[in-house]
Amino acid sequence: MSKIYINPGHGGADSGAVGIGGRQEKDDALRYASVVADKLKAAGHTVELERNADYLINVKDIAKNANLWGADLFIAFHRNAGGGDGAECLIVTGASATSREMAQAIQGALVGVGFRDRGVKVQDRNTYVLSHTTMPATTIECGFVDNAGDNALFDSKFNEIVQGIAAAILSIAGGVVPNTVTPPSPSANVPELNRVLKYGCKGGDVRMMQERLNAHKANVGKADGEFGDKTRRGLHAFQQARIHEGRDVGCRYNGNKPDGKCGELTWTILHEPAPGE
Ligand SMILES: [Zn+2]
Repeated sequence: MSKIYINPGHGGADSGAVGIGGRQEKDDALRYASVVADKLKAAGHTVELERNADYLINVKDIAKNANLWGADLFIAFHRNAGGGDGAECLIVTGASATSREMAQAIQGALVGVGFRDRGVKVQDRNTYVLSHTTMPATTIECGFVDNAGDNALFDSKFNEIVQGIAAAILSIAGGVVPNTVTPPSPSANVPELNRVLKYGCKGGDVRMMQERLNAHKANVGKADGEFGDKTRRGLHAFQQARIHEGRDVGCRYNGNKPDGKCGELTWTILHEPAPGE
């Protein structure tokens, strides 16, 4: 059995990329890395999940830890940003054949669930951990955190994504993914949101948001598709209530105070069944 080092990108003060609705790369990275780590453990491998919560480890220490631990494989979990779309896996110049093989297997799994194929890329910048680890290594960029379609895919196909990545790693490390079922993503049935809804917005998406706010008893009046004062107050109250419950509504950039704008996290929570639904 192999020793597999799992590195969820960023953490703590380093949010990584920030996407739609304040969605942070570090959170998505931890989310999918930790489920993949569990699956690899269940297949009998020794797995080091480098962080299991929201804190930052210096990249130099990450590479050193993986080398000293004697990892057989190293996988870094990230999400991309910058206006594109699709998935890619990174390796560095001079990477071993096994690195490339592992990257190709993971890339195949991501394309299989529907991400646009950006390919396996050889990249030597911002890849400290890949160039300073001594074992086969790759970085996964699982779609763009600033692309609504990629985020919808990440959420709705989450189980297939983690299952596919785990199977791809096991195609190198050996073993089979046990048939474990991850609970479906809470956002699996959430309609796609293509913009952040804020004061002054008009349209069907605003109407849907108003209907959901009313279902959650936030009382924004008639769902007329126009984001005015009453809608803003209702949304604000809804966010405040969820923040009190410890939920992440995408307002951490705002000191975790309601911003009265509906991004993906607020939108997703709005689509959870309201009491009595
Ligand atoms: Zn990253």
